[in-house]
Amino acid sequence: MKEQFITNTINLKSYNISESDKIIVMYSKEKGLIKGVAKGIKKTKSKLGGRMELLVANKMLLNKGRNLDTICQAEALNTFLNLRSDMNKLFYSMYCCEIVSNFGTENDPNSEEIYNLFYSFLERMSEAKTKKQAMLCVLRFQLKIMDITGYSIELNNCVKCLKKPCTSEIYFAVEHGGILCKTCAQDINKKIKIPQKILEFLYTLLIEDFNLNTRYDELATEKICDICINLLKNYIEYYSPKRFKTLQMLESIR
Ligand SMILES: [Zn+2]
Repeated sequence: MKEQFITNTINLKSYNISESDKIIVMYSKEKGLIKGVAKGIKKTKSKLGGRMELLVANKMLLNKGRNLDTICQAEALNTFLNLRSDMNKLFYSMYCCEIVSNFGTENDPNSEEIYNLFYSFLERMSEAKTKKQAMLCVLRFQLKIMDITGYSIELNNCVKCLKKPCTSEIYFAVEHGGILCKTCAQDINKKIKIPQKILEFLYTLLIEDFNLNTRYDELATEKICDICINLLKNYIEYYSPKRFKTLQMLESIR
């Protein structure tokens, strides 16, 4: 009797291994990153069908293999249908999907938290009515995923003197992991000035529940969201263990 296991997953990417089979890379609630062979998926009559498409959440039944597990059954939990008809939403989702795929690990101890965050992200992105709503969704995701994976961005205290900056002249330095006060920033080359208001905005998004609307949802403009997404994009890219492929795509919808 083959050993089987059940887990909730979200499809991250896939690649061909033969005329009819594909390997699906997924993020699972119980085990972090996993891979499974979808047999016969490229045939028109495949019983797995559309459930193996990217960014679909499934309840999966897998057969444990010596090297590779095989997908036996998949029950769609959410296809996040409204992502697929809007290019902005789709590109943002593919970017966040790549963050999960780059920072996710096998047997990740934080897998449940990451899975739930990614699921909430896709759900909310799917429901977004405006570009600004979609952008806020990306920002929340960028901040929270860095926090969960241990690359938390310091937004309150200067990363060098560890004190709260006493002037409004504050800098952000990717390589130092967060903000710098005016004095400490003096001998740092790679830094950008960051307004206090932007820091407050980001901090609120970081600490509030993913699905909660903050007062910033109305106050923030597309331009501010764009600046922040870009800032966090550079941060995430710097700490990523793998190279990003979706950045050009992200650039195309700015
Ligand atoms: Zn300082």
